[in-house]
Amino acid sequence: MKCIINGKLVLPDKVAEGMAIVFDERIKAILPEGEIEKENYEIIDAKGAFVAPGLVDIHIHGYLGEDASDGSEEGLKKMAAGIAKNGVTSWCPTTMTIAKEDIIKAFDTARKVKAQSNYGAKILGVNSEGPFVNPAKKGAQPEEFILAPDGDFIIENADIVKLFTVAPEMEGGYECAKKVYEDGRVLVSMGHTNASFDEANKGIENGVRHTTHLFNAMTALAHRNPGVVGAALSDERVSCELIADTFHVNAGLYKLVYKAKGDKLCLITDCMRAGGMPDGEYTLGGQKVIKTGIQCLLEDGTIAGSVLKLNEGVRNLYNNTNLEIYEAFNCASLNPAKAIGEDRNIGSLEVGKCADIIICDDEINVSKTIINGAEF
Ligand SMILES: [Zn+2]
Repeated sequence: MKCIINGKLVLPDKVAEGMAIVFDERIKAILPEGEIEKENYEIIDAKGAFVAPGLVDIHIHGYLGEDASDGSEEGLKKMAAGIAKNGVTSWCPTTMTIAKEDIIKAFDTARKVKAQSNYGAKILGVNSEGPFVNPAKKGAQPEEFILAPDGDFIIENADIVKLFTVAPEMEGGYECAKKVYEDGRVLVSMGHTNASFDEANKGIENGVRHTTHLFNAMTALAHRNPGVVGAALSDERVSCELIADTFHVNAGLYKLVYKAKGDKLCLITDCMRAGGMPDGEYTLGGQKVIKTGIQCLLEDGTIAGSVLKLNEGVRNLYNNTNLEIYEAFNCASLNPAKAIGEDRNIGSLEVGKCADIIICDDEINVSKTIINGAEF
């Protein structure tokens, strides 16, 4: 049994000092340090740093030159090991709008790696972003592979798909959302959508419960035409993803979004294969992408994913709001875990959950990542 002492424990509703966390593969106890008989444990000294829940990234395409859409087992493992260094302990490899057979191949690869252990951040299942998107809001999703919404395809793959994106206003979109929602296993997200406010609300009535990167690739919030953003912010059933890299969405809006969504705000990275790599040329969905600093753009200037790390997202959210630090952490751990129905096992430091724990400094630089009780 292991025990972390001398840390600032980031719990779901407070930061606790003078408390120790005891764990093997799961968290066994959280108790005052004075009650710990140290000789009984393998002691880890946090030296005053934050001891926080492992982060959960439910929307990430690539990292370290790899991409989940490549369908490479080695690639997924390289990503899993790489993002663990950023404090991510669970994730959803995210596919793009690519040829259907390539999507199926990527799902199969995720199935194979998910069945293994000790490869890095745990694969929870896949996020299928596309191919059911609106060409008018395709962003960096290649148009040639866009398909009409098909709920059966998602249900057939519900053993591995945790969430998927649909543009509800597309022909068959509402039926698709309803079918998958009623099946009950996969979270229905609206995104890459040109829906009006009314169409977005109709999507929600048909089972949409999540929003793919709020603000990006959807109709904007205007006062007489509130768009998908207005519908997503207004309906308390709907959780929202946010790419908090300060580029995709102006950081001045973070506070407002948190006020509207609270524990339904999920930080994601939407990171593509240039993440963790030097500036230069990369690809996304077969298209050329140029990475310069924190920006990734197609040749025509369209934003093409990010190179954000999720611990940086927590830092950016915290630095640009008046949130408590535990609230900022929740947005990248407990809230996304809840959104995809995994919060019984992961997402917070609570007795009985997996011992997915990170140690990080006040700037959220991660020095240690523990997955299922083992240091990775
Ligand atoms: Zn994406």
